[in-house]
Amino acid sequence: MFGPPGAGKGTQAERLGRRLLIPTISTGDLLRKEIRNQTEVGLLLKKLMDSGKLIKDSVVTSLMSDRLEDRDASRGAIFDGFPRKVSQIDILDSLLEEKNRKLLRVIALEVPTEVILQRTTGRRVDPTTGKTYHTDDDPPPEGVKVVQRSDDTEEVVLDRIETYYNETEPVLEVYSERGLVSKVDGVGPIDVVERRILRALGLEKWAK
Ligand code: AMP
Repeated sequence: MFGPPGAGKGTQAERLGRRLLIPTISTGDLLRKEIRNQTEVGLLLKKLMDSGKLIKDSVVTSLMSDRLEDRDASRGAIFDGFPRKVSQIDILDSLLEEKNRKLLRVIALEVPTEVILQRTTGRRVDPTTGKTYHTDDDPPPEGVKVVQRSDDTEEVVLDRIETYYNETEPVLEVYSERGLVSKVDGVGPIDVVERRILRALGLEKWAK
């Protein structure tokens, strides 16, 4: 699942995963977990992530590789946030070959920058469940404590958008040449975008 920050990758990947009964593997979540657990790696990660920069391939790859070995991912998985730059394409290719698996399809969610800023700066997360809310569109229920991701401030989001267009869009070009990419309009209510994704995947029966 590709798209600039705030495109709805995480939300849509979770929904699709629930339908297909496969997990979403988000490298951002795996990295945030390391930070939360204050592991040796986590302590080094926080500063980099707070500035919107990408993390070293070796760190991301080893987390991803371990996660793919978990039982729940044995039938498949949806990647959210990986590969994030061209060097990670080869890494993913080898990883999948080693594990006898195949990349089947790439969904590219397209969302203009004004919408991204509105979504990300209003995004709030329940740190216990990881569930996301939005201050205007989807406020958390009373009693649910939420926080703002430290990289969701306008200044950092603008850097993350730049990182996306410089480093991640070229990945899509490579996958387009392989005929794997379906572009999907990511603007609109969550259910509507979900239906567009299902159609793009040929899962019309669920897109009614
Ligand atoms: P996300 O939750 O996908 O928005 O990712 C949050 C942050 O985690 C990014 O801004 C990067 O610092 C880091 N990150 C996530 N995935 C990757 C990746 N595949 N490679 C390098 N850094 C990543």
